[in-house]
Amino acid sequence: MDSSSRQPIQREHLPDIRGRYTPDAQLGRVSWFRTGGNAEVLCKPDDIEDLREFVMGCPEDVPVTILGVLSNAIIRDGGVSGVVIRLGREFATISPVGNDCLQVGAAALDVNVAEAAAAHGIADLEFLCGVPGSIGGALALNAGAYGSELKDVLVSANFIDTKGKTHNVTASDLNMGYRHSEIPQGWIGISAVIQGSSGDPDKIRAHMTDIRDQRSRTQPIRSQTGGSTFKNPKPEDMAEAGLPETTKAWQLVDMVGARGLMVGGAQMSEQHANFMINTGTATSSDLEMLGEEVRRRVMDHCGYDLKWEIARIGNP
Ligand SMILES: Cc1cc2nc3c(=O)[nH]c(=O)nc-3n(C[C@H](O)[C@H](O)[C@H](O)COP(=O)(O)OP(=O)(O)OC[C@H]3O[C@@H](n4cnc5c(N)ncnc54)[C@H](O)[C@@H]3O)c2cc1C
Repeated sequence: MDSSSRQPIQREHLPDIRGRYTPDAQLGRVSWFRTGGNAEVLCKPDDIEDLREFVMGCPEDVPVTILGVLSNAIIRDGGVSGVVIRLGREFATISPVGNDCLQVGAAALDVNVAEAAAAHGIADLEFLCGVPGSIGGALALNAGAYGSELKDVLVSANFIDTKGKTHNVTASDLNMGYRHSEIPQGWIGISAVIQGSSGDPDKIRAHMTDIRDQRSRTQPIRSQTGGSTFKNPKPEDMAEAGLPETTKAWQLVDMVGARGLMVGGAQMSEQHANFMINTGTATSSDLEMLGEEVRRRVMDHCGYDLKWEIARIGNP
């Protein structure tokens, strides 16, 4: 339902849960970009049963948005209507479950999963050490780096649907592909089992150190950013545009002279042209306008419709 035709949420309309509701909760300010408005209501369920109580009792006209740690999202300046769910500590557990597998909660940070894998001598999960999101966000975006993606290591994932039913699904059920996952509308990721292979903890840690070094050399990781702004184009689309099939999003940004381009306090990073940064005074509107300006230039220059990787959430 359109939020403008809905009355503001009253506490008594929401189901009783053991967890916490916070009205008018800061959201944009806790995003990686540090821009954007508040959540009408923030909900932090205590555990899975509490989350189930919430989804089963939430009125149908109240929009529900699930978010992770906001490392790939612009929260628009007008904030987010309805209830925003963020999963807390109870959902962040990481435990070995045999055969080089880890059972991980959706709120577990990717970096903590990579560290736990190293501690248990599980290789092939090192790529997660450089992704600053949560497993929930990784499921939604098929997070990946350095040639590996979540789908390569995902055994299965558990989701709760809007009726409170649990579904156990695989990467192919979700049709996971490059920064793409078809999670049915309203489903909330709660946990996953991921599998690596047996490895030497010292070698795994050395690999993680290499990944971190490489990142700090090439990406503005200490800036207020949201990671890659645009998805890399498909080779066939670049061929159709008369460009080399290997052309990456950052090269398109460069090609249209947008490295370092600014709108208000938002800038396409000088260090990595596909990273957008808040130089300190940006609004979410600046960030979104900058991204749209880059997309317009790429369309004008090579007829290609550059796709956002960063989610834009909420009201302008
Ligand atoms: C410096 C930097 C470097 C980065 N490098 C990489 C990289 O190398 N590779 C890469 O893939 N990404 C990278 N990112 C982007 C980002 O970290 C990942 O996309 C990450 O997976 C997002 O997770 P999150 O918890 O922050 O999700 P959020 O940004 O909070 O949300 C993103 C999307 O996931 C959905 N979502 C979140 N939790 C759940 C859940 N429990 N159930 C269902 N849907 C959910 C949200 O609805 C939203 O649509 C980088 C970001 C930064 C800031």
